[in-house]
Amino acid sequence: MTKRISILGATGSIGQSAVSVLEADRERFSVHAVTADSNALKLAETAIRVNAAVAVIRDPVALPLLKQALAGTPVKVAAGDEALADIAGEQVDLTLSAIVGAAGVAPTAAAVRAGNSIALANKECLTCAGSSFMKLVARYGVNLLPVDSEHNAVFQLLQGHDMADVARITLTASGGPFLGWSKARLSDVTRAQALAHPVWSMGDKISIDSATLMNKGLELIEARYLFGLEPRHLDVVIHPQSVVHAFVTLRDGAVHAELGAADMRRPIAHCFYWPERRTEPFEALPLASLTDLTFQKPDLDRFPALQLAKDAMEKGQGAETVLNAANELAVAYFLENRIAFTDIPAIVRQTLAESERYGLLHEPGSVEAALELDREARVIAARMLLPRQKSASQKPTAQERRSNPTV
Ligand code: NAD
Ligand code: MG
Repeated sequence: MTKRISILGATGSIGQSAVSVLEADRERFSVHAVTADSNALKLAETAIRVNAAVAVIRDPVALPLLKQALAGTPVKVAAGDEALADIAGEQVDLTLSAIVGAAGVAPTAAAVRAGNSIALANKECLTCAGSSFMKLVARYGVNLLPVDSEHNAVFQLLQGHDMADVARITLTASGGPFLGWSKARLSDVTRAQALAHPVWSMGDKISIDSATLMNKGLELIEARYLFGLEPRHLDVVIHPQSVVHAFVTLRDGAVHAELGAADMRRPIAHCFYWPERRTEPFEALPLASLTDLTFQKPDLDRFPALQLAKDAMEKGQGAETVLNAANELAVAYFLENRIAFTDIPAIVRQTLAESERYGLLHEPGSVEAALELDREARVIAARMLLPRQKSASQKPTAQERRSNPTV
């Protein structure tokens, strides 16, 4: 029987890796919907590649181009936030949630309400709306399969174990491009340097989060909700080779690890085929050449974002929501070359302190309340960002912007 899949965020890094998994086994899967933010041509090309029934673009301005690119094909098209929410809420066997940022939370919640199994790449469902999102998943009784490589590893490692026997879960972190850098050098980091991840090829937002180590902080929050563990049972270890993705320590002292190539097609395929396993079409891990696997403690002084995430976890979901929102906005500003790299954790810290002063760090009671708190936190973060913005002379010139439209 074929599995019918919808891909939310089909034009991104995860979305495109998913497409290559689906292309390799056309008999096993069919694609209902593919969605994107504004890149009409990439969405049209993707829809054709996977033979999708529907393509939905969030930005209505891009609709004419999408229509034109898909003219003469059977692919139906639609645009706008409402169309995106509607298509996300249509019933399929599995929804791949691969939109970046808090923008992915509402569509994923709609997919949960439709009763779809969820392959979850969008970690913001849990970093923005943690306990509320998990309550929704429980209420609708849907399968929640983690795509994030570390969490996918933990999910596999926990099979056959009683959670009462689990003493600790340890996520590995590559350490990002600035692992050995001094604190002083970090303040001069450029956008291009921060985007150049040594191991993983990913979207811009998560690449910057990997460079600040905020990604690992967000992943601790993600793990807390996925596996129902207290923060004291969760840990991070730096492992620059990214061969081991996670460890599970059992209460008798046994430490189990999951190893595999640093290729997101692996965890994506695991979720797509679950509960079955596919035959690996890619090269298996060459064990005999793994001669140099190293592990070290993260430096929380040089990479304060990880400590901020740990502190937010102690405070609870309201603080996690604010942390996630402030970080998302600060990363967007850094990507536009408006603030320095080291401003990112500073903005998050200030926004958390200010939100606490306003009494905002209470537990949001629903996914919608978490999204409302996300919006409030962004307003506060935007205020904190104002005085830190670079002067006009430091911003990219019109020429630089033309040669790189995302600057
Ligand atoms: P990306 O930036 O490459 O792609 C994002 C996708 O979301 C694109 O299809 C884009 O069109 C769509 N999108 C962006 N903004 C949107 C909006 N406002 N509304 C609707 N759609 C929108 O991102 P990515 O690296 O593929 O990451 C996607 C998610 O997966 C993130 O939450 C990230 O943390 C998580 N993740 C990614 C990786 C990875 O290797 N890339 C690994 C683990 C987890
Ligand atoms: Mg990860």
